[in-house]
Amino acid sequence: MSSLMLQTDTIVAVATAQGRAAIGVVRLSGPEALRIGSVLFTKKDLSFVKSHTVHFGPLTDQQGQLLDEVLATVLRGPRSYTGEDTVEFSCHGSAYILQSVVSACMAAGARLAEPGEYTRRAFLNGKLNLAQAEAVADIIAAESAQQARVALTQMRGGFTQALQGLRQELVGFAALIELELDFGEEDVEFANRHALKETLLRVLIVVGQLKDSFRWGNVLKQGIKTVIAGRPNAGKSTLLNALLNEERAIVSPIAGTTRDTIEEVLFIEGLAFRLIDTAGLRTTTDAIEAAGIGRMHEQVQQADLLIYLYDSTTTSNKDIHEDLISLWHKGLQIMLVGNKIDLLPLPSEPADMLSNLEAVQVAEHLSISAQRPQDILVLKQKLVDIYSDVLNHAGDAVLVSNLRHREALEQLADALKRA
Ligand code: GDP
Repeated sequence: MSSLMLQTDTIVAVATAQGRAAIGVVRLSGPEALRIGSVLFTKKDLSFVKSHTVHFGPLTDQQGQLLDEVLATVLRGPRSYTGEDTVEFSCHGSAYILQSVVSACMAAGARLAEPGEYTRRAFLNGKLNLAQAEAVADIIAAESAQQARVALTQMRGGFTQALQGLRQELVGFAALIELELDFGEEDVEFANRHALKETLLRVLIVVGQLKDSFRWGNVLKQGIKTVIAGRPNAGKSTLLNALLNEERAIVSPIAGTTRDTIEEVLFIEGLAFRLIDTAGLRTTTDAIEAAGIGRMHEQVQQADLLIYLYDSTTTSNKDIHEDLISLWHKGLQIMLVGNKIDLLPLPSEPADMLSNLEAVQVAEHLSISAQRPQDILVLKQKLVDIYSDVLNHAGDAVLVSNLRHREALEQLADALKRA
């Protein structure tokens, strides 16, 4: 594919993160990249070296001031990320040095790149399609193994290939319909109606699967929004601390002291659980506490997973039912956790209340003491179990994790149904 827009200027920017590091990379891309690179890298003329080679030498600005000793990597277009001639200087990672190198490149004729401009050029030069370009941002933002995997599959063209197969089927379909329309009066049947319908249904099924995968894709991309809720003193703060293995929330024996919500991300087996601590569940006259409770209901409404904690020594089944019914919404996974079993006279199994909760589905029910590390391990394993489907899905299947793609698939499904 040729470029849609001629890129006439050469851009430069620091490609690595801000802050002190062993190495920082300055990247030049565009028709003048090799010439501008050679102005700074005086040891060799980079215009004459082979593509995909690395060269060691000093960098100096146009006044002859030594800037750094670097490795210069030369990638000639179209075999580069942007598709253009590219020079990357791997410098020492000082913010000062990197800025000086960028300034010297600008003095030699480069323009400072805009955010995302390298990827935009890669897209315009046909190196990446839109789905792949979008995936680049997701890869950079990935915080867990699973997030990285979904984004990498997308960048490497997984989603695109899945769509290409469907496109082929539909192009064939359209061709047959056009023939029918052109020669319809001549009593020749080109396409078997039954076969046409089959094609549509087949495509519709695949589109449905892709659409549904958004639920998993989104969970992996955004993390599982998890709310720990329960009545005051159930042990929510204790559990949160144990899960995060550090003193983050205020733990207090006085009812209703956890007033602020705190969000932390917990990684278990490559899944990101976005944990949100909450205020106690109870009717109260205390204004701040009441605001906290309202916020908790709001958070549970937006949550994917609720860890509902109750004190096994004091809480009745009726209270638990009431709470769960008031908190439940469609799509919410519930993990029911009886806490403080260390205080019970006899070791006990979780009470049989699952069958009684008709309106509300509980994914897991277990009894723990939030103060026992081995119980926390069991709880973590159960959390992963709830999402084992997601993990299985994430293996090699194509997961739709982008809202725009999901909406486009939605429209496609509607169009197929109309057809
Ligand atoms: P929250 O109000 O739900 O956040 O509850 P906290 O985490 O502040 O805990 C309330 C009290 O119960 C504190 O005194 C905790 O030390 C205690 N607690 C929490 N979990 C357990 C447990 O498993 N066993 C026992 N014996 N006490 C616990």
